[in-house]
Amino acid sequence: MSTFKSGQCPNCGGDLQVPDDKNTILCMYCGSKVVVADAVQKAAGANIANWRNLAETARRGGQSHEAIDYYNKILEIEISDADAWFGKAECTAMTSTLANTKMPEALNLFLKALESAADKELMKKSVTESLINISNSNFRAAFNHSAKFATSVSEWREIEELVSPAIIALAFAHALDTKSQTTLKAVIKAFDELINAIPKEACANAPFKKAKQEYVVKLKLLDPNYIPPKTKSDCFVATAVMGDGHHPDVMQIRRLRDECLVRCCSGRLFISLYNQIGPHLARAISYSPTLRGACHNILIKPLVYISKYIEQEKTL
Ligand SMILES: [Zn+2]
Repeated sequence: MSTFKSGQCPNCGGDLQVPDDKNTILCMYCGSKVVVADAVQKAAGANIANWRNLAETARRGGQSHEAIDYYNKILEIEISDADAWFGKAECTAMTSTLANTKMPEALNLFLKALESAADKELMKKSVTESLINISNSNFRAAFNHSAKFATSVSEWREIEELVSPAIIALAFAHALDTKSQTTLKAVIKAFDELINAIPKEACANAPFKKAKQEYVVKLKLLDPNYIPPKTKSDCFVATAVMGDGHHPDVMQIRRLRDECLVRCCSGRLFISLYNQIGPHLARAISYSPTLRGACHNILIKPLVYISKYIEQEKTL
């Protein structure tokens, strides 16, 4: 007895159920002679396009698990679909948490994407970009976690463990093209943001600080004129209030500090006080939404206002 598979008529596009024990059939819609294998392949192609759309939609909506299911369906039919491997890799990385890292699995999937890609250079670029984004969000998650829970320098040091998957991902990105200065600069920038965000005592001898130094040395070998960016400490309180070190208000306040406050004596005193109490205040804030709201109104808003005002004055 023959079993039936989903097929599509290559001539009229009609949906067919084709028997797998025959080579050809007649299309029930247009009457043309249809090769069974072609009809099956055509249906699969239509499915792949459909699944790819659904996967992309799920991915954009943050439904990583759902997206992975669709990418798997594509890969079941077309094992060398580089875009599906890439999408699955990114979504797998997105399901990664501090407690349960999916980074090794994601890296494996990125390798599959690279193996299957027709345009290897383009895929390398996409993978590198993705790895740097993934590492940055891992760094941020680790920082937010530590800012919330660490009550001492030794507890802050647990961040070393939390960021290790991201450091492997950055090493992987660099290994894809060891001569790429763009990648090295992006890797160093990612490290810098992490190092600047956490209390100085907690990262004095941290392995990631040494890792960053190694990348700086590598970049200097490629470009003897390279000057590493100056380290800047982060706005702990503003970051905790806004929940993200990259919020425009945080950047605005950071500019106020780096461009105005450092130039006068009382400003520097304020910064040094802020650096001492900042991490403690930031921790207190992250526990209490009420305190966070209060800080937003009495501290962040006025600082943002002042800083915008000063900037306006300067440009006039
Ligand atoms: Zn037909």
